[in-house]
Amino acid sequence: MSSKPSSSSAAPSPVRAPLKPLDVALAELLAHALPLPGLETVSTFDADGRVLAHDVRASLDVPGHDNSSMDGYAVRCADWLDAGTLLSVSQRIPAGGSGQALAANSAARIFTGAPIPPGADAVVMQEDCEAVDAGVRLRVQPQPGQWIRRRGEDVASGGVVLARGQRLNPASIGLAASIGFDTLSVAPRVRVALFSTGDELVMPGEVAPADMLPGAIYNSNRFFLRALLKRLGCVVSDMGIVPDRLDATMNALQSASQQHDLILTSGGVSVGEEDHIKPAVEALGKLTLWQLAIKPGKPFAYGQLGAAHFIGLPGNPVSSFVTFLLLVRPFILKLQGASQVAPESIALPAHFDWAKADKRREFLRVRRNAAGGLDLFNNQSSGVLTSAVWGDGLVDNPAGQTIAHGDSVRFIPFSELMA
Ligand code: AMP
Ligand code: MG
Repeated sequence: MSSKPSSSSAAPSPVRAPLKPLDVALAELLAHALPLPGLETVSTFDADGRVLAHDVRASLDVPGHDNSSMDGYAVRCADWLDAGTLLSVSQRIPAGGSGQALAANSAARIFTGAPIPPGADAVVMQEDCEAVDAGVRLRVQPQPGQWIRRRGEDVASGGVVLARGQRLNPASIGLAASIGFDTLSVAPRVRVALFSTGDELVMPGEVAPADMLPGAIYNSNRFFLRALLKRLGCVVSDMGIVPDRLDATMNALQSASQQHDLILTSGGVSVGEEDHIKPAVEALGKLTLWQLAIKPGKPFAYGQLGAAHFIGLPGNPVSSFVTFLLLVRPFILKLQGASQVAPESIALPAHFDWAKADKRREFLRVRRNAAGGLDLFNNQSSGVLTSAVWGDGLVDNPAGQTIAHGDSVRFIPFSELMA
């Protein structure tokens, strides 16, 4: 039975739960993201981007011997008399070779990386020497220890070189190799089911731009979400586009909840009649987080379907992109047991004005300029994906805050968020 609203008073507005602050939402998400069990052993070559499942401990010193950091002559400093000191050259030590004890008043011809012979206490670079028939003349007085790289100065045997929970990068896999690791134990890959919702969505390649019907748009979220997941080492099951119907949404969620650690969707997570994500997740599992106090990115949901985690991202491309970077990325890293999951921001001066404070915490698309400040993209609409391409990061602007030219703001580079 419908009741007519009285003409004298406005219809009561539905009670709205307050939007969740980002920090609270992130803490809740991370509390749910228990690291996945098990580990994988991978070739060190293939370990870039993976998260270490064990500490990596050195069983040798690097370098293994005191060695020369220059091409030149290994000498004994005590043999120096004056500029022109003449030493006989008693031996030649290339990298990979090894020398004999160095007698008084002699020098060893030595090359970068070659071990320092016993008795020598400095290397004189060849530019400071003159090779003569009788040996070598030193032009410059050697200082004890000069041009010698000390045994163990990079890595000391027995120490933890890379810690469990560390996300490997090209430098760290190089370091692991330097102490003899050809394989590494890493966290398992996160299995993610990805789908987009929206009857308006068309795949590029299916319809030519000239033939797009009014109201149709190309599915862009699918492309960047898949790429972002891949960068985090996820195994992605791309389920394509799901129509805006409750039964179709429920079917897709149901099948995605099998064999996946995370179901990630975009769109359909607001309160419109065409938004079926929330009721579908509530019917099949539970929804524990919904709607954030951030801009862009208010429509955001977290829940669970059986053993699988569920995250619903907004449909608007920039909202989807930003919420992935700020929330899904840390969530996935935590599933892999990563110790560092939240991005670090740095203080930089704004070279723009932002006069209209928002009730929500905002993430503005900006770009560093040559003067060391930040320029603002001229359109901050959540549908304008150009802002994320033009920009090289986000300004994290607190709720209710205006920005004046020259103010110090918090900047999070995309290079950190997309690595
Ligand atoms: P929704 O959250 O489903 O209400 O979508 C919000 C806006 O984002 C609408 O303008 C959609 O057309 C757009 N949108 C939703 N999904 C995508 C997608 N996969 N790619 C590009 N735009 C999308
Ligand atoms: Mg939609």
